[in-house]
Amino acid sequence: MVQYELLKNNNDMAKETILKFDHGITYTHITDKFDGPNDVYGQKISYPLTANLNVTHDCNLECDYCIRQGARLQSPTSERMVTFLGNLPVGRPFRLTTTGGEPFVRKDIYEVIDFASRQPWAIGIISNGTIPVKFEKIPENTRFEFSIDAIDPSTYHEQRGGSEKQYQQIIKNIKEAKSKGFIVRTNVMLSRNNMDPAYIRRLINGFADMNIDQVRLQKFVIPRGAQIDDDLLKKYGLTDEEYSSISEVARNVGRERNIGVLVPQQNKQLSLGSVRIYPDGSVAVQSEDKPDQEIIGNIGSESLESCWSRVGENVSEMHLRYLIKPKRII
Ligand code: SF4
Repeated sequence: MVQYELLKNNNDMAKETILKFDHGITYTHITDKFDGPNDVYGQKISYPLTANLNVTHDCNLECDYCIRQGARLQSPTSERMVTFLGNLPVGRPFRLTTTGGEPFVRKDIYEVIDFASRQPWAIGIISNGTIPVKFEKIPENTRFEFSIDAIDPSTYHEQRGGSEKQYQQIIKNIKEAKSKGFIVRTNVMLSRNNMDPAYIRRLINGFADMNIDQVRLQKFVIPRGAQIDDDLLKKYGLTDEEYSSISEVARNVGRERNIGVLVPQQNKQLSLGSVRIYPDGSVAVQSEDKPDQEIIGNIGSESLESCWSRVGENVSEMHLRYLIKPKRII
């Protein structure tokens, strides 16, 4: 039996604080609490407040734009996952988003989530939604991000190669998550399959009908180390003008239907303001002024705090700036 019981801790006030960050809706009263770029709620920030953890690169889908095209790493064993978790900011405010690959292909994913839920952490799960989720094992306040680029099975198939059954399973998971009170965001990879204004309107309206809290439109970015052929680039490599006109259509529907629409970020491989932890434990950051991500350490052998001690001031300053941007969800 793997020691997921390893470290128990709780700190309700810290948890409440980070959940407010996570839900992100009312930021102003939180930003008031910052005394400066290195201080939040009077605590020195010596580690990143938010991280995306790739719990595996395995997946039951084969999307042609997948990040795994760059480097498909072996999944960490449960023992190694325990080491990773113990090297995160245990007992301190933090937001952990588990992603993949597909997190629910891991047999121990509910144990990973259970460990996280006993920390003062906000928890997010990014999933392709095609595997039935045992919602009764997921702590309340967890934020789900389901990756679904379409509002009909045939466009879904075009885009992700998934079957109608898989599409219906995502819809089922989304509806169940909403009915149980979870926060749900949908992530939509934009391409020539789904960029038509009429389709975008239908897509956002369809999500609004399901009471989804937020939609994030995503830009295709060439995965680290991947060789991308011209056909793929033609399909996903939309121009800036195309992105901004799609975003405008989506935002307008979002305003009408009261659903948040986040538009594509800058052309970066990683989310600015967060760190990415790969299945081999390596920790990557990206700064605004550099095209490539930078590996700052490995949580297989040291704490995230120790990794973070190597980032330059520009990265730590950017991290907080992105976190506290009004109305932004971290
Ligand atoms: S669902 Fe996500 S991880 Fe799986 S193949 Fe598609 S993009 Fe890759």
